[in-house]
Amino acid sequence: MSAIRSGTWTNWAGNQRSTPLRVNEPAGESDLADIVARALQAGQTVKAVGAGHSFTSTATTTGHLITMGRLNKMLDVNRQAGTVTVQAGMYISDLNEQLAELGLAMPNLGDIAYQTISGAISTSTHGTGRNLPGLAAQVNGMRLVTGDGNILEINEKENSDLLKFAAVGVGALGLISQVTLKVVPAFRLKAVEGAQKLDALIENLDQLVESNDHFEFFWIPHTKWALTKTNNRTTEPLQTLSKIKHWYSKTLLENYAFGAVCTLGRLRPQMIPRLATALPSTGQTTTVNDSYRIFSSKRVVKFVEMEYAIPREFCGEALQRVRQVIETKKYNISFPVEVRFTAKDDLALSTATARPTAYIAVHMFKGMDHTAYFNDVANIMSDYQGRPHWGKMHSLTHRELSQLYPQWNDFLTVRNKLDPQRTFANSYTKQVFGD
Ligand SMILES: Cc1cc2nc3c(=O)[nH]c(=O)nc-3n(C[C@H](O)[C@H](O)[C@H](O)COP(=O)(O)OP(=O)(O)OC[C@H]3O[C@@H](n4cnc5c(N)ncnc54)[C@H](O)[C@@H]3O)c2cc1C
Repeated sequence: MSAIRSGTWTNWAGNQRSTPLRVNEPAGESDLADIVARALQAGQTVKAVGAGHSFTSTATTTGHLITMGRLNKMLDVNRQAGTVTVQAGMYISDLNEQLAELGLAMPNLGDIAYQTISGAISTSTHGTGRNLPGLAAQVNGMRLVTGDGNILEINEKENSDLLKFAAVGVGALGLISQVTLKVVPAFRLKAVEGAQKLDALIENLDQLVESNDHFEFFWIPHTKWALTKTNNRTTEPLQTLSKIKHWYSKTLLENYAFGAVCTLGRLRPQMIPRLATALPSTGQTTTVNDSYRIFSSKRVVKFVEMEYAIPREFCGEALQRVRQVIETKKYNISFPVEVRFTAKDDLALSTATARPTAYIAVHMFKGMDHTAYFNDVANIMSDYQGRPHWGKMHSLTHRELSQLYPQWNDFLTVRNKLDPQRTFANSYTKQVFGD
């Protein structure tokens, strides 16, 4: 969660901060519209913040900061259409619980549920799954307060041509007040977690991705090993770890023991390669549970992250190059490299637009210098037309980004219409859209 202390806003990772002119806590859409209209008149800017889980400066502002905490309700359920409408600030964790009570679910999710729905879609947040695109592809409609303070309804009937731009808007097109999402009947997943040698895994990658509903893996730098996660739909009965085993595996090993390894590694970076071989692996575990309980997990250890989306066919090659750079440059990396897959979509600024995608994410424990490692990995990814996650660290500007998205100029045209005065500008929109 982000925090506001003594007038300064800080994101979850603690690597972004800003001092807004004013913090606003709107209670409804008309408040959002009023704030925008007043800011426009005064020549000030406005920025909404979700849960502050982005690592980039995308939610920073020196203008009006809008917190979405009071816009956290489910507004409508349309079972016939298979949609729900929620206020934009609803946390994904709350959405999951409320959908479950209705016998419904999101078809796919990322690996945490702390984000707001508006924050998650705005940065093209994704999970993993060969046939499933990211969260923004579930958006069926939304209401947006545009740069002139007016409310724009976007759905299949009204302004439908704008949906593919507004679904991943990077906070630059307006303030989202509510979102309509396509949902599916609740389902269970069978999750199998294990370990495999990385070389064999890469050789078998297509088969692993194709034969599972959701496949991902974490390669542990300085070792030959990758931890794998396969999640598949099932009608089998619930099979959960006992409370104590769950705490041991998910809280103690994946968070606190891992945090201790990282802390030791920060103090003595030269020990990291040896510590890596001791990283937690509890052998193979199998669980069956409601989809949203399997998808999302707890994150206690703080880090910074960079993630690139590349065409799926280059995944193995790109990952071997990341491995090589870690070895040749002798980087000491205590965090696993995470690899996921999604289907392509047609949203203008989705990181998976127009191509089946592999995501390669690198992390660095909070307080350790990530610069050289992240730069080297970014250089590798640029050889594969890599698109950085909008919410994760990168230094690309509009010059490079404009070459990576086929609908880039169309997005800019829409932005010029919806926010001609740049009421929603901040340092990040200047970096990525080049105002
Ligand atoms: C521990 C951790 C795990 C993560 N796991 C994943 C993962 O599995 N998959 C993945 O893809 N990403 C992941 N992320 C990244 C995260 O999903 C994105 O950064 C996401 O945008 C965060 O959502 P948020 O609610 O915190 O939004 P913020 O970071 O607060 O905001 C993101 C953007 O949305 C805009 N925004 C927010 N609300 C509105 C609104 N109402 N109207 C208009 N614009 C708005 C903000 O202005 C900003 O531009 C992870 C991040 C962390 C810290």
